Amino acid sequence: MYRTHHCGELNANYIGETITLSGWVQKIRDKGSVVWVDLRDRYGITQLIFDEARSNQNLIDKSKTLGREFVVQATGTVIERSSKNPNIPTGDIELLVTDLICLNASKTPPFTIEDETDGGDTLRMQYRYLDIRRNPIRNNLIFRHRIAQLVRNYLSEHDFIEVETPVLIKSTPEGARDFVVPSRMNPGQFYALPQSPQTFKQLLMVGGMDRYFQIVKCFRDEDLRADRQPEFTQIDCEMAFVEQEDILLTFEGLTRHLITSTTGNDPGKFPRMTFSEAMKRYGNDKPDIRFGMAFGELNKFSKHKEFQVFNNSELVVGIAVPKGNELTRKNIDQLTDWVKRPQVGALGMVYVRCLEDGTFKSSVDKFFDQTDLAHWAEITVANAGDLILVLSGESDKVRSQMSALRMEMAERLGLRDPKVFAPLWVVDFPLLEWDDESRRFHAMHHPFTSPKPEHMDLLKSDPGAVNANAYDLVLNGNEIGGGSIRIHDKATQSQMFDLLGFSQEEAEAQFGFLMNAFEFGAPPHGGIAFGLDRLVAILGGQETIREFIAFPKNNNGRDIMIDAPSPIDQNQLNELSLNLK
Ligand code: ASP
Repeated sequence: MYRTHHCGELNANYIGETITLSGWVQKIRDKGSVVWVDLRDRYGITQLIFDEARSNQNLIDKSKTLGREFVVQATGTVIERSSKNPNIPTGDIELLVTDLICLNASKTPPFTIEDETDGGDTLRMQYRYLDIRRNPIRNNLIFRHRIAQLVRNYLSEHDFIEVETPVLIKSTPEGARDFVVPSRMNPGQFYALPQSPQTFKQLLMVGGMDRYFQIVKCFRDEDLRADRQPEFTQIDCEMAFVEQEDILLTFEGLTRHLITSTTGNDPGKFPRMTFSEAMKRYGNDKPDIRFGMAFGELNKFSKHKEFQVFNNSELVVGIAVPKGNELTRKNIDQLTDWVKRPQVGALGMVYVRCLEDGTFKSSVDKFFDQTDLAHWAEITVANAGDLILVLSGESDKVRSQMSALRMEMAERLGLRDPKVFAPLWVVDFPLLEWDDESRRFHAMHHPFTSPKPEHMDLLKSDPGAVNANAYDLVLNGNEIGGGSIRIHDKATQSQMFDLLGFSQEEAEAQFGFLMNAFEFGAPPHGGIAFGLDRLVAILGGQETIREFIAFPKNNNGRDIMIDAPSPIDQNQLNELSLNLK
């Protein structure tokens, strides 16, 4: 037997007992006549002691041959420590070793296996198995497991059935590029890896499964932005005989359960906001509502003077930065430079100081009087001591610039508290999105999303104005889930493909299976999918999803530990009928 106990459980109750532990050497302190070894496993650390007064010399000599990360088995007696460590559960005791077996030696690890490691990202990824030995990563993986368990239990208790859907499938157009897999047995033909199990979960509803979920890997061959993974995990869900309200309530329940169980905070009822309100008030379809600084549109009170910058702008918009009047002129100049960077792209910034005596001092005092500025303050809900920042330009652009500025100010003011959880439903998304480049409509969510019944008539006359029964769940400024009520009749589905520019033949070839299924009694249905990686990271109070994935890929989509992707040999290529020349 390698061990009778693990390294995290011994305490004063065990004093006097003979115990065997196995684990890794975390640290050795050699004081000559006494040697202490910290032994670590998944559960914690227990201090081993070897000393001249009580141990035999061979054992002491042997302890001195150990190195960091050696794997050892130690048997001994639990004794009370002379200097206790209140910071760890085993801090009152140590193990006076009577028998020591070295199970495996270790090379010196390339970085320290400590909470704060000296290893850079690349090294940590290359030796991820060592990284996983560190508390932070190990705890993150355990946390992820806990969330997955909570999800499974909650959904199972609510009659959801977990069903596995295939991984080798045919393209689903979800907006990203597919990863493809060549078929050896069908030369020249390819499977695609699912971007999501979308069509399968809908077919499960046609199949009468009623409530489905799956914790499932999805694959998208997107240009990798920071902190995106080409493979990621969804909590994918679908329900039959539901309206949007049923879905929102069900998954609000799930999300609240996750937030309360893992953080102890009950976020209460989730607020809702329409897509257009989110864009107007926050310039963003996933607003972070942990803090205010909502946009105030100033057109009415800013275009009546000789200030041509505003007069020539489609939209003039401001935010009130709490206590922003404390910023110096130099701070504000730096901020102006910040919004002018190409990443943000504003041409300039106007500011108004809200003074303690109720008057205003602005960078455009030449053009605007106290009455104008008072209007601005009212619209942006600015108080004495605040600083109003104003941007102007073309509506879409200025909204996204202001959104960036709002987030930056929140960051600088420490308002993005990872311990605060502010969920938000964003509803009433447009069904379609016009793409200037391809000069046609794209589905904003995906082509299976149902238009709002009351907008059905607009589909022909004004498709751009049609709203969908589509919703996103936003948590602290991140989209953590999104879904929709689906189309469940063939006529509407083919009308949709038509709008999206599919010929009838193309629609038939790609989605004939789904449209056929709709002809065999498809129930009304809808669903949602959550990004598990991001959800876990946010609930864990962190930003980077990579820290919550056991074996993540780097920003270039590479697994640098196993060195993938990599070339394959000519025989393999031939077998797959892939001629790369
Ligand atoms: N399949 C969708 C997605 O991956 C989610 C859904 O509509 O349920 O975003």
